[in-house]
Amino acid sequence: ARKFFVGGNWKCNGTIDHVKKIVTMLNESEVPSEDIVEVVVSPPFVFLPLVKALLRSDFAIAAQNCWVRRGGAFTGEISAEMLVNLGIPWVILGHSERRSLLGESNDFVADKVGYALSQGLMVIACVGETLEQREAGSTMDVVAAQTKAIAEKITHWTNIVLAYEPVWAIGTGKVATPAQAQEVHVGLRKWLSEYVSSEVASSTRIIYGGSVNAANCKELAAQPDVDGFLVGGASLKPEFVVIIKSAT
Ligand code: 13P
Repeated sequence: ARKFFVGGNWKCNGTIDHVKKIVTMLNESEVPSEDIVEVVVSPPFVFLPLVKALLRSDFAIAAQNCWVRRGGAFTGEISAEMLVNLGIPWVILGHSERRSLLGESNDFVADKVGYALSQGLMVIACVGETLEQREAGSTMDVVAAQTKAIAEKITHWTNIVLAYEPVWAIGTGKVATPAQAQEVHVGLRKWLSEYVSSEVASSTRIIYGGSVNAANCKELAAQPDVDGFLVGGASLKPEFVVIIKSAT
């Protein structure tokens, strides 16, 4: 069985005080045990050491990005080796905000995924279509192309969680219906089984992201191919705990 996975992507938010408050809230929360749900929070780079020092040990930490290859003369970048050195086990790669606002292509994202895995990081790899692409009926083509680029650069899928995040649902309050999420997750699993292996298809966690909140998480979590969530806005609030609990 695939262990439920709940990620909290804090994006570019927070102050030291705010971060301390969120961590206290998480540390004091009562959630299902580690064998039921894997919880990973993703603060901005500058707060990683602080969160690492304060966060309870059954919750893990992800960076929100990393450089595409070995560090060096790349001003403003953070390398995978630095994350490993800091003891950060996870990294989010290919988030739609980076794809659209910072011009990260499928190939660039795939190179990042390959390099991060090679350094021992675990990766939350994001895919998802825009509203225009959905309306044109090309959702599956888009997410398959994003996944294919990654599949071509890696040999092992054990350390990857695939996050399906429809761009039109991110930060918009417009959540995908449980049926819409399930449909794409099934499509991705089918793609994995055809182009990678049936083993990888059945073991890889595919999580949903886009306006997940306390009110809609339970119904989404009940879908057989929704293995968890990548939560943005609601991960900064107490309702994140409700979302973690939707694992059971
Ligand atoms: P929201 O939950 O704020 O829609 O963001 C989703 C997201 O982008 C998580 O990575």
